[in-house]
Amino acid sequence: MVTVARVRPGTIADELGIKPGTELLSVNGREVDDFLDWEFLTADDTLLVHARNPDGEEIEFDIERPEGEPLGVELVPPSVRRCANRCEFCFIEGLPKGLRRNLYIRDDDYRLSFAYGNFATLSNLKERDERRIVEYRLSPLYVSVHATPWEARKILLNNPRVPNIVEQLTRLAAHGIQFHGQMVIVPGLNDGDVLEASLTDLWNLGDAVITVAVVPVGLTQFNHLFKGESMGREHASRLLAAVGRWGDRALAERGTRWVVGSDELYLQAGEPLPGAEFYEDFPQIENGVGSVASLRSRVHEGLESLPRLDGRRIGVVTGVSMAGIMPELLDQLSDATGARFELIVMENSLFGPTTTTAGLLVGADIRRALDGRHDIDLALIPAECINDNGVFLDDEPFITLREQLSMPVYPSYDFIDVLVHEGEPRVAEVAA
Ligand code: SF4
Repeated sequence: MVTVARVRPGTIADELGIKPGTELLSVNGREVDDFLDWEFLTADDTLLVHARNPDGEEIEFDIERPEGEPLGVELVPPSVRRCANRCEFCFIEGLPKGLRRNLYIRDDDYRLSFAYGNFATLSNLKERDERRIVEYRLSPLYVSVHATPWEARKILLNNPRVPNIVEQLTRLAAHGIQFHGQMVIVPGLNDGDVLEASLTDLWNLGDAVITVAVVPVGLTQFNHLFKGESMGREHASRLLAAVGRWGDRALAERGTRWVVGSDELYLQAGEPLPGAEFYEDFPQIENGVGSVASLRSRVHEGLESLPRLDGRRIGVVTGVSMAGIMPELLDQLSDATGARFELIVMENSLFGPTTTTAGLLVGADIRRALDGRHDIDLALIPAECINDNGVFLDDEPFITLREQLSMPVYPSYDFIDVLVHEGEPRVAEVAA
């Protein structure tokens, strides 16, 4: 059963009088268990929907829907499938205490993998789930493989009951399901021979495995469970070399690079990041694979659209890992606009100095960076560190922080998105 959260005005559901709180029980005689069932079972144009109104009355809606017209129902968000593993390197284990409760939810949900590109290990997959993946053609899925040799994977996921991932992927691949894989590498556990064996197994699955991302383990100062080695420069270089060999082979034999190291792996190895063409159509950019190349391209392409901002003083707040990348970009922005840019690199006060990603900076870091800076006319902060509700990871609302700082502050993905509007008159000037 799923529950209606909202009905869009003027839609079929609105005309039928469906109200928020209505429980949707079945469609054309098939039970609705979750949003996936609702999504797929309502794909038909002739629907018999069995529902329970908020007052408890059961009712049937006989619907003839004009082709392509949406029903107009938004559902209460699903409860996520929890993770049964206990990886030593788990980011959630590495969160400090006292944050919002939903940050501690360890999801491992193939439905969210399909719907939103969240990575899932598939270790909690039941036979029924596999049948649904095949029936609803949930493809591609984003799979945290980490290692294919079974014993190594049990150790990495810290779960003796994980199923054999090669068998799972093989069964699903036989029905045409495809995957994007990721391998988080813990030195000494799944690099070297385990990495080779894993890439060989994934390669042997043919077209089913579309891409593989190789990501170095990332730890905060709170990852107390972790007993392994952390990634050093030499480790990272060896990994990149192995990934490069496989990538070259894939390019020669299949015309695609197939396996790519994350940006963080290049940064840890101290090696230059490749250009945008290396990443093809950026299939794993959400996983930090090609983000820097994409940023460089967007800045380069956006320079001509920028207004002159001569004499403006612009502060750019970022995390430690981007400190080496930013100067070249800020120089280009400065040449194009005449503004003076100041790079403000912040250590992460919540997760500790080992967490260097700009997108994990918290409200307190932004405040420390900008408080009392009356010499800055405008500040840009990483847009990724604010969630959809406008809140930083430490629960600080962006709007509160912005009101307390002396300069206008804008979340920005690529500088261009904000600076392109800076030449426009402000609302108050227009009114005057
Ligand atoms: S699979 Fe591992 S890293 Fe992912 S949520 Fe579960 S315990 Fe954490």
